[in-house]
Amino acid sequence: LFRKIMSNRILDVVDLKTYFQDESTGGIIKACDGVNLQMNEGEIVGLVGESGCGKSTIGRTIIGLEPPFSGKIIYKGTDILLESRSNRSKVRRNIQYIFQDPYAALSPRQTVWMSIEEAIIINGEKNKKAIESRVKELLISVGLDHYISDSYPRELSGGQRQRVCIARALATNPKVLICDEPASSLDVSIRAQIMNLFLKLRDDLGMSLLLISHDLSSVRQAAKTVYVMYLGKIVESGFSENVYANPLNPYTQSLLSAVPDKNPNVERSRKKILLSGDVPSPMNPPSGCRFRTRCFAAKEICQEVPPLQQITADHNVLCHFAGATHIEKN
Ligand code: ADP
Ligand code: MG
Repeated sequence: LFRKIMSNRILDVVDLKTYFQDESTGGIIKACDGVNLQMNEGEIVGLVGESGCGKSTIGRTIIGLEPPFSGKIIYKGTDILLESRSNRSKVRRNIQYIFQDPYAALSPRQTVWMSIEEAIIINGEKNKKAIESRVKELLISVGLDHYISDSYPRELSGGQRQRVCIARALATNPKVLICDEPASSLDVSIRAQIMNLFLKLRDDLGMSLLLISHDLSSVRQAAKTVYVMYLGKIVESGFSENVYANPLNPYTQSLLSAVPDKNPNVERSRKKILLSGDVPSPMNPPSGCRFRTRCFAAKEICQEVPPLQQITADHNVLCHFAGATHIEKN
């Protein structure tokens, strides 16, 4: 049984710490400070929190764009960080990144075709016929019409550009896609289409996706599991249905409270929690609970580091009160 559970696990991030040094002051920025995160095969996982919380740092560390200070990144049982440099990059080919700004991620001098073709060639394919059919296949799998393959990025819509980036990422046949605010630069109407594409990639290719967003509501439908991050720490995680229906960390409650209700009558009478100010600097985070300076429920004890409390098998909360602070619903 143990094996069965474990075999489903594709990515295991263990106590990951990624620190930066501030250039002007020399201070240490603990952008990602002891993060645990798990992904299973064929699953969509959400990672949410305000801007500056460290979400991108986690993603960038996983794919090797930032060196971690400590921790483990285990892909299918292999601790990537312990591998030799060449093995590490081989394993990491299974994990690809989709950036927020598709325009910046594409070369302005490459057509759609050239851009996707390049990704296939980098992956080691040399046969011309094979390359051609693979480009066509990738265009189809991201829902791009063949007629745009001679277009340059500037001639495309934002949604089309993001699809090209996704096609490039798929060229290596990855098992995991890290999508960092993949739709936040796009029109609202296009966002749903990109989300649907991610669902399709999960269903058709069995991919696992880490959906990063500052907007909790945007991952709600798609993500089976959600992680809520604040100032370098995961403060709540669990199955989305549990976290959204029953948020137990005051931070999650505050973020959800900012999401308007679709029903205007409910919206008008709803109690809202104001989340004042910005995320404090990760160079000088508040002692104890890092959220205490903005928390509506903060008490004396919050000056001490809160324990991670397991509420149910899937639901974990970093808070002294974990749930006792539940806001009244009216
Ligand atoms: P998010 O993606 O949640 O908005 P980031 O991971 O981009 O957050 O950033 C987390 C914190 O780390 C921020 O305070 C940011 O300024 C800092 N940071 C990120 N990358 C670097 C870097 N290369 N050098 C210094 N500070 C960085
Ligand atoms: Mg980011």
